[in-house]
Amino acid sequence: MDYTPDPTHEDIRKAVEQLCRRFPDEYWMKHDDSHEFPWEFYNAVAEGGWLGLTVPEEYGGGGLGVTEAAVVERAISASGAGMGGCSAVHIGIFGFEPIIGHGSEEMKRKYLPRVVTGDLHTSFAVTEPDAGTDTTNISTFATKVDGGWRVSGKKVWITKAQEAEKMLLLCRTSPREEGAKRTAGMTLLFADVDRDHVQIREIPKMGRNAVDTNELFIDDLFVADDDVVGEVGHGFRTILGGLNAERVISANAALGIGEAALRRGVRYANEREVFGRPIGQNQGIAFQLAEARIKLDAAQAVLDKAAWMVDQGLPCGREANAAKYLCAEAGFFAADAALQVHGGFGFGKEFHVERYFREARLMRIAPISQEMVLNYTAEHVLGLPRNY
Ligand SMILES: Cc1cc2nc3c(=O)[nH]c(=O)nc-3n(C[C@H](O)[C@H](O)[C@H](O)COP(=O)(O)OP(=O)(O)OC[C@H]3O[C@@H](n4cnc5c(N)ncnc54)[C@H](O)[C@@H]3O)c2cc1C
Repeated sequence: MDYTPDPTHEDIRKAVEQLCRRFPDEYWMKHDDSHEFPWEFYNAVAEGGWLGLTVPEEYGGGGLGVTEAAVVERAISASGAGMGGCSAVHIGIFGFEPIIGHGSEEMKRKYLPRVVTGDLHTSFAVTEPDAGTDTTNISTFATKVDGGWRVSGKKVWITKAQEAEKMLLLCRTSPREEGAKRTAGMTLLFADVDRDHVQIREIPKMGRNAVDTNELFIDDLFVADDDVVGEVGHGFRTILGGLNAERVISANAALGIGEAALRRGVRYANEREVFGRPIGQNQGIAFQLAEARIKLDAAQAVLDKAAWMVDQGLPCGREANAAKYLCAEAGFFAADAALQVHGGFGFGKEFHVERYFREARLMRIAPISQEMVLNYTAEHVLGLPRNY
């Protein structure tokens, strides 16, 4: 087993850390409060060449793998940018996997170079109010017409729809009851977010407010045949291939928030004096921070293995799901500990740990809930009966 740090990964991490130093915690606090999209940060990431990192070189991208994308998102998150920073750029860094893997050559040539420059803003529109985690139960329906499809339905929790020009839209093209399997009959479309046919309503939420999340009301939206990603009726399979990588990258964002929180917790525990000594001298404080360190390190070990397996093309549902679970728990534990260590000042905004806490909490819900990870593990790893 060779644990020597990879020099390329170290270079990537240092370069991203340097970029992020231009966007301190105060920047993220301001955008979290104002709900303004962090354009300066987004543009800096694009100019730095980090968008399109996983886009193949022939389309102008970096041609790198999930491990490198994960290093970038972890560094962004750990800078204090947290989920606000990661969500602003996530789709540009990794979200085009369905098009890279399943899109037509024409689609790739048309769109991927625009991902790399940062000019193309896209949402990923899967979740629906009446289906939730039960994705096969979606009801947004695309009806075949001459030259394309007409789509109507509702989506919820769709990130960055306010800025998006396009969306990867999962629809039913035949009813669930008609398919041999419940996953059959869904199709992935690369649809225009045409405001004449898509009403977008922002959802007020607990955190990660630098980036919007929305309800979409889709009414008779036309999508051309050329904008079908992969095969008609096989949309579930088209998105499935990228899910382990998605878990790994989001786990890195969760881990990064934990690192940011722990850094602040340790600093405060060394500086704050109560009863005539630094609070970090009390085991009640020191142990919380030490435990956070151990949990983050353990989660990272599983995470790095999962990222490596994704890039090797090895089956890794077990590892990717475990990594997502462990990183979300470790990130939240660290954020909670940092808040506790700051006492009343943790509850206030000045030290930023309350923002980390709110964002770390999200990672236990999205992009997949901890319960669904446990369901996966119970069924596919332990061989227990399926419950969903
Ligand atoms: C800030 C934010 C951004 C998001 N961005 C996007 C996006 O860009 N695109 C997108 O498509 N989606 C997005 N989502 C949606 C996210 O992926 C879902 O919220 C998440 O997958 C859970 O779905 P749900 O909220 O409908 O929960 P539900 O499915 O209603 O579940 C509610 C609770 O019940 C639990 N539960 C349900 N079934 C079972 C079961 N069988 N066993 C055990 N527990 C169960 C769940 O784990 C959860 O805790 C986002 C969500 C948030 C909060």
